[in-house]
Amino acid sequence: TLTLSGITKSFADNDILKGIDLQAHEGEFIALVGPSGCGKSTLLRIVAGLEQATTGSVRVAGREVTALAPAERNVAMVFQSYALYPHLTAGQNIAVPLAMRQLSRLGRLPLIGALAPGQKAIRKEIQAKVREMARSLMIEHLIDRKPGQMSGGQRQRVALARAMVRRPALFLMDEPLSNLDAHLRVHARTEIVDLHRRAGVPTLYVTHDQAEALSMADRVAVMIGGRLLQLAPPQQIYADPRHIEVARFIGQPR
Ligand code: ATP
Ligand code: MG
Repeated sequence: TLTLSGITKSFADNDILKGIDLQAHEGEFIALVGPSGCGKSTLLRIVAGLEQATTGSVRVAGREVTALAPAERNVAMVFQSYALYPHLTAGQNIAVPLAMRQLSRLGRLPLIGALAPGQKAIRKEIQAKVREMARSLMIEHLIDRKPGQMSGGQRQRVALARAMVRRPALFLMDEPLSNLDAHLRVHARTEIVDLHRRAGVPTLYVTHDQAEALSMADRVAVMIGGRLLQLAPPQQIYADPRHIEVARFIGQPR
């Protein structure tokens, strides 16, 4: 579970988040929607630890993580630009988080590019995990390819694999499909939902796409002007918006 309590965020004297309370339950998929600039990415960055909240607390799987560094939170985040390492193969990209974990355990600086840790047993274990992840995302055939030799959809799957391979307690996605064409998008939606069901990890998913929110989410959170105005199953949000701002946002043609 993820529990956010009273999250506020101000940049200089600009109040961006004005008190966000939210609970995502085990295995729940929440779509976070709202107008551009309402604070969606800021909220995700705070949950991931890439940004500090001004006030409020973040709990992940029952653990207070508000003051912890990103690597200590057991949270995975996928961005719009997948940011794969261009000089590494898909397999090596997926191995990065596992190798990092090993290296920091060995007390060494994680050096991207010289990823294979000394011990053969560890290397084998990492390779086995990478293969298993690649198999479940059906990207085994891409494992030796570099990002430059893959399509957008394939890169997106590799980025997903890299995010999932650590078995995070929480999954954050900030418009991960917005770089894909319409056909790939629809396909990738199904894939993400499917993966989510199997992993059972609570997910906070930011999207501009109403169809995406409708078809993927267990509940939709509507954020407007730094406040969560409604959090409910998609059908309920669409059939019964509780605020004029929600009705306006949901009803606007796009
Ligand atoms: P979009 O849908 O366009 O991605 P968003 O809901 O993700 O928008 P945020 O990126 O969270 O919006 O930004 C919310 C507000 O906070 C914006 O007005 C933005 O300009 C401001 N903001 C974000 N980061 C900073 C920063 N580091 N310094 C100052 N202002 C910031
Ligand atoms: Mg954003």
